[in-house]
Amino acid sequence: MSNDPSIFRFTDGDTIDSLIHRNKEWSQRLSALRPALFPALANAQHPQILWIGCSDSRVPETTVLDLLPGEVFVHRNIANILPTGDLSSLSVIQYAVEVLQVKHIIVCGHYGCGGVMAALGNKRYGLIDHWLQNLRDIRVANKEELAAISDPVKRVERLVELNVVAGVNSIKRNESVIEAMEERGLEVHGFVYDVAHGTCGVLEVPADPNTDVYCYK
Ligand SMILES: [Zn+2]
Repeated sequence: MSNDPSIFRFTDGDTIDSLIHRNKEWSQRLSALRPALFPALANAQHPQILWIGCSDSRVPETTVLDLLPGEVFVHRNIANILPTGDLSSLSVIQYAVEVLQVKHIIVCGHYGCGGVMAALGNKRYGLIDHWLQNLRDIRVANKEELAAISDPVKRVERLVELNVVAGVNSIKRNESVIEAMEERGLEVHGFVYDVAHGTCGVLEVPADPNTDVYCYK
């Protein structure tokens, strides 16, 4: 199915040159529709949204949100994980919040996430296991809830959601974010994208970002 040209526009027989051609046609089409767009983007970017999502090819943020170039600042990695001390995501968040002054941060997971499926098992995959350990830690922290779900698809879906909650909580514990939430009303949201329908849902996330951290009193 993946090679069916009636579905996809870049298939086995297509070359890199065809991508350049496609890009030319796209930029001409968009310029005709919105002549001011590319000249405005040449000056600066003013996105209002920071999107943190999975690298999965089925979840391209600007496309699924039906937005334009310049509207979404993006950080994507396998299974939209935000490990403590990850310089890449921390730098993106700081730049988006302090310099670009985004108004919304969206952490978006997606059902059918391969990273989440892998993290639910104990099969070893090599280097990537270091990355997936972050998800396995969430799995361990929620083992009773996950074990009570008998349907393996539903179990994947639940870990996808728990990972989004962990991501939102982690962002809401970030110093730049805390300050921007207090001073200018920055909002942090959890989304889940359904690849089978192309639809985004808002995930309810506890208001207290420390709900996933055991607290000694
Ligand atoms: Zn994924």
